[in-house]
Amino acid sequence: MQKNKGAEPVKKKITIGIPRAMLYYRYEVLWKNFFSILGADCVISEPTNKEIIKSGTAAAIDEACLCTKIYLGHVKSLIGKCDYILIPRISNFGIKRNMCTKFEALYDIACNTFRKTSQKFLTYNVDVIEDCPEEKAFIEMGIELGFSKKEALNAYKEAKKGETESLKNHLKANESLYKKNGLKILIVAHSYVAMDSYIGKPVTDFLKKLGTVPIMADVVDRKDALKRSAKVSPTLKWELSRELVGSIDEHIDKIDGMVLMSAFPCGPDSMVDEMIIRKFRGKPILNITLDDQDGTAGLETRLESFVDILRFKGGTL
Ligand code: SF4
Repeated sequence: MQKNKGAEPVKKKITIGIPRAMLYYRYEVLWKNFFSILGADCVISEPTNKEIIKSGTAAAIDEACLCTKIYLGHVKSLIGKCDYILIPRISNFGIKRNMCTKFEALYDIACNTFRKTSQKFLTYNVDVIEDCPEEKAFIEMGIELGFSKKEALNAYKEAKKGETESLKNHLKANESLYKKNGLKILIVAHSYVAMDSYIGKPVTDFLKKLGTVPIMADVVDRKDALKRSAKVSPTLKWELSRELVGSIDEHIDKIDGMVLMSAFPCGPDSMVDEMIIRKFRGKPILNITLDDQDGTAGLETRLESFVDILRFKGGTL
């Protein structure tokens, strides 16, 4: 395991900065619980705004995807406000269960980008193929922070229980949306795109304003979705994309249409979206790519036309 840059055993109460971007939307409960059980405070960056996007774009290379730029903006906004900024390094959860390479690289990118500051960064490495599952990674991170193996393990187990409970409740609430009246639109997007207050959330908010029911595809029974996605495409290897594809497969008969929402320029999504369009025929699909535009201004007409098509198909226009 690579050592955390600047991490050293500590006894005093520590503050962990967590960027409100990327995997925050997947691991929020696990991270907050883990650090709180260990007695640490968490400070979360503000929801994405224009300033965060601007500073992240200035810090990133031009070719980086919009989500990486946003992420670096969040990291920058936390500098000097905490003892450590948490940036996990997540490679895979096993064979054909890879994460996009950005999730392996973000810690090193951030350490390098902000190397002239005195900010300390904290990571944990999940690489099941190399025998480093999540539990082991959290124990190592806890030890690096000065806690015993037992303390770190207990904190992880408790935090995991909280995460499981939260996922269960979230899933139950999401599943109830499929039974609601109105046009149901499946939002096929990574959570850090769909939930981001500046890029994805305005899209779902606008769809709600149009009287439709947007439903997040990524809120799904993950194990079940992985099995389903393997039937749709045995070669698809990105974990988060597989969950989305499995979710479409499970819910296709309960929805009226889909919005595929990607951040520019996303390598995995450019291939997966194409595959989704070919494999799931019969339901209208709107494919949108988000850039650092101001909200949904340029998208509203496309969203309105898409909803009109769905209404026309459903005989309500
Ligand atoms: S999956 Fe796409 S949007 Fe997400 S980090 Fe990778 S390149 Fe960026």
